[in-house]
Amino acid sequence: MPVEPRDFYEILGVQRNASADEIKRSYRNLARKYHPDVNPDPEAAEKFKEIQSAYDILGDQQKRERYDQYGMAAFSGSGAEAGSPFGAGFPFSDLFDLFGQATSTRNPSAPARGDDLRYDLELTLEEVAEGVSKTITYPHMEKCEVCSGSGARAGTDPETCPQCRGTGQVRFTQNTLLGTFQSVQPCGRCRGTGKIIANPCQSCNGGGRVRKQRERTVSIPAGVETGTRLRVSGEGDAGERGGPSGDLYVFLYVKDHDTFVREGLDIGCEVAVSIFRATLGGTITVPIIGGTEELKIEPGTQPGQIYTLKGKGLPEVHGRGRGNQQVVIKVQVPTKLSAEQRQAVEQLAASFGDKVEEHSEKTGIFGRVFGKH
Ligand SMILES: [Zn+2]
Ligand SMILES: [Zn+2]
Repeated sequence: MPVEPRDFYEILGVQRNASADEIKRSYRNLARKYHPDVNPDPEAAEKFKEIQSAYDILGDQQKRERYDQYGMAAFSGSGAEAGSPFGAGFPFSDLFDLFGQATSTRNPSAPARGDDLRYDLELTLEEVAEGVSKTITYPHMEKCEVCSGSGARAGTDPETCPQCRGTGQVRFTQNTLLGTFQSVQPCGRCRGTGKIIANPCQSCNGGGRVRKQRERTVSIPAGVETGTRLRVSGEGDAGERGGPSGDLYVFLYVKDHDTFVREGLDIGCEVAVSIFRATLGGTITVPIIGGTEELKIEPGTQPGQIYTLKGKGLPEVHGRGRGNQQVVIKVQVPTKLSAEQRQAVEQLAASFGDKVEEHSEKTGIFGRVFGKH
């Protein structure tokens, strides 16, 4: 059994008899407060999702009526409705763009909006560092060109539904001990559209849409991360019988990199140097994203010592600066020595008296292992 979500009126903080305007106002206030762009608290993102789901239903007159009558049962079996199409929409859908879309009031018998679609897109760290344009191909429902989306065969028009006389709704009157109740439901004959198609278009069988491959170039800003979603407005499925299109959501995944690990805007890598270079110091060549960089290490560099290349991390997605690159030094000890080399090392060891410098600190290996310093 899925968990029954909280009451949508309660989530939006309005009375059950609130007007559409009151609901809209309350939604806007809450969304401004909890939008992930504004409120970094992870609980806010959850809250925002909840608010969005509630508004998705209550902000739509037809869905609200269904919800009032049947509760969430009216939407079960259709995940797209219960889970809001926006979710915790990150961070490119501009807040007001979001509102413009979500608050459009709709005639209840107007053709339904098409479905939102999801496309999963994999990126390399190099692409994340630079930003990239990607051409993607995906199937979606497009308006049928033969009938211009009406669903009716050329030369004919959809007819007014005789059952509901074009209103798309039917009223039921129920007599009970407590009095007479009227309830309104979408008309079954015309599925709430108010129109029936006597002569369906042969190209789309009356649905007004046909399935097609769509090619589209999406530009991905630098600095995105796994879980970022981009909304491409109006690129989802076309609505039935000329209804507005849904949106396309591009979900981004950043592939693991062979050399670098990522931590927010920072990246890190390990670089091996010989015990002699570590001892003497000098300049080494280290990989950076998309190239190499010279790095000066000091004499006496220790295994695990970290050098920072400022500004060589990833750009912040809104263009506010860049992260750094951390270079962790790995010291390599030679495993094979020629007779001469062995002699030289023995001499060197003798000159040190073969003593290890006193060097014990609690924060060494264990600090790193446990992430404490
Ligand atoms: Zn058609
Ligand atoms: Zn009807």
